[in-house]
Amino acid sequence: MTDKDPDADKPGEKDALILGAGIVGICCALALQDQGFKVRLIDRDAPASGASSGNAGVISPWSCVPQSVPGVWRNIPKWVFDPEGPLSLRWAYLPRVLPWVAKFLAAGQAHRLPAIADGMAALNHPSLDLYKSLLKGTGGEHLVHDGYYIHLYRHAKDANLSDLSWRMRLERGAELERVTGDELREIEPAVAPEYGAAVVIKNQGRASDPGAIGRVLAGEVEKRGGVFLRSEVHGLRPNGHGGAIADTGLGELTASKIVVAAGAWSARLLATLGLKVPLEAERGYHMICTDPGVKLNNILSESDRKFAISPMDMGIRFAGTAEFAGLDAPPNYARAEILKRQAKRVLPGIDTEATEVWMGQRPSTPDSLPCLGPLPGLPHVIAAFGHAHLGLTGAPMTGRVVAGVAAGAPSNIDMTPYRIERFL
Ligand SMILES: Cc1cc2nc3c(=O)[nH]c(=O)nc-3n(C[C@H](O)[C@H](O)[C@H](O)COP(=O)(O)OP(=O)(O)OC[C@H]3O[C@@H](n4cnc5c(N)ncnc54)[C@H](O)[C@@H]3O)c2cc1C
Repeated sequence: MTDKDPDADKPGEKDALILGAGIVGICCALALQDQGFKVRLIDRDAPASGASSGNAGVISPWSCVPQSVPGVWRNIPKWVFDPEGPLSLRWAYLPRVLPWVAKFLAAGQAHRLPAIADGMAALNHPSLDLYKSLLKGTGGEHLVHDGYYIHLYRHAKDANLSDLSWRMRLERGAELERVTGDELREIEPAVAPEYGAAVVIKNQGRASDPGAIGRVLAGEVEKRGGVFLRSEVHGLRPNGHGGAIADTGLGELTASKIVVAAGAWSARLLATLGLKVPLEAERGYHMICTDPGVKLNNILSESDRKFAISPMDMGIRFAGTAEFAGLDAPPNYARAEILKRQAKRVLPGIDTEATEVWMGQRPSTPDSLPCLGPLPGLPHVIAAFGHAHLGLTGAPMTGRVVAGVAAGAPSNIDMTPYRIERFL
């Protein structure tokens, strides 16, 4: 990564400037290079160092269930007032987040679900195959694993494949199996006997070091001539020809196509163009047991507390919680400490002496779908943000979609669900 622009900003016919070098920006860069674009990425941090490094590593081809579903509002008070619950709200932030919450609840109406689920499925379904193909020949093939995604239930009666969220997956081709507690412990002997049943999602993927995947793929971008610039992007302004000029710490930068892939900060950049997008920083935490003393074979999800437990190269990672406090609030690592207590309840034999904690910001839209495609009135500025809980999963297909838009060769998926106009 460099703090100087070696190209001194000489945009060619087919060049792209990508704002943000998280996993989404990196996958966009690779796909744009496939379409013959010369790419530059600009980020104030190293590639894939934010949400794209600390996530739970679930590569989830069958994820098609949005965060907001009918009746979700019934759980919100229970979650918010439980200090160990999955949802946390800084009360001073409540007035700011309320309009987003209203849109979130509206998105969960039954009649909206099928289109949202199909939009999620189209991005997420190819994820595992696409990662394997992106990593092939890079030396990073070992970072992606086949496996199960196992949802744990304390009470056997709650593991019910006729529930809406399982039906939605089944309708879209997922292979699911309900297993008893004993069968669960044959697959994962470390899980506590209190868990009475589980739902196993088959044909899943997992990343054993999501940050390393980003770094390996960033290396591929560079090998193909891509350039990573290290600087802040202050804002965007129209260039008068349907594109934009980025005002950055390295001066003004432009390109024939600009891709906004700045994760949770993307709405701030769009605000400088006068566009108001409902994008919240849905802050999540992780806690890694670096010397766990127990073994896991697959990623687990605790269904009540809604956190994931992932075997990774650096230990076992417990990742979850949704905290609404705004982009700039300091982390509250008490949220990560809660994960430490809960870790013992799921894996009683785990050693929680040596741990590391982390906070990252999910870029969350109210309807769990990202904004992809050209900005209104600015056909050469392309949105690629808002992947919420599923940005690691959705990034490779997002890259293809964005590169298709940039090249004027749209992919064969229906872009309607991702249009930014749905919020404007
Ligand atoms: C706890 C947790 C667990 C998760 N688990 C999973 C999971 O298991 N599976 C899954 O698919 N997803 C998961 N996610 C979601 C996933 O991590 C995110 O959706 C994804 O990383 C978003 O990628 P991104 O590239 O859009 O954003 P980011 O990774 O946030 O990258 C955006 C980049 O833009 C840069 N940037 C922003 N504004 C500016 C600016 N003005 N100037 C310069 N640079 C700027 C930032 O520095 C950053 O590097 C999880 C997230 C969290 C927090």
